[in-house]
Amino acid sequence: MAASDEHAPNVPSPARRAGELSTGRSRSLEECEDGVHMSFGEAALRRRPAATAPCPCGGGSFGSCCGPVLDGRAAQSAEQLMRSRYTAFAVHDGAHLARTWHPATRPDDLESDGPEQWTGLTVVRAAGGPDDTEGTVEFRARWRSGTDSGELHEVSRFTRIRGRWLYVGGVVDPLH
Ligand SMILES: [Zn+2]
Repeated sequence: MAASDEHAPNVPSPARRAGELSTGRSRSLEECEDGVHMSFGEAALRRRPAATAPCPCGGGSFGSCCGPVLDGRAAQSAEQLMRSRYTAFAVHDGAHLARTWHPATRPDDLESDGPEQWTGLTVVRAAGGPDDTEGTVEFRARWRSGTDSGELHEVSRFTRIRGRWLYVGGVVDPLH
């Protein structure tokens, strides 16, 4: 027993092989933390800003702006829903995008939609409040993807069904 213990360090080591395996494993975990191999839901939770952090949409702190809407509270206006959807794109919250998209126009694959990063939002004009059933929001959303960057200019249409605003569709680069 003692002899085999003494020889143990010179034996081609299962422990070392296990070490290599665990190095490999931790490398893939790091990739997960970058959002490369995570599911959409996991990525969304990790990318959530703190309640006191600036909201990605630019409308104040996350906890007083889009945070509650992303958590399921009904948006009070088409603009509030639009802002929360911009923020959902920015933080990769596919679940919020799916549940606020009218089923008739919702794409099957939300995950591969859009650029890598949304970097800012300007709401140009908005209509549709608590007493309305139709709403319109014109906005400019800035994005970056690798070395490319640009701006999405869209007029989005919304409808309110059973107290919930839903995104119906939009016209990109509208003519004035
Ligand atoms: Zn916001």
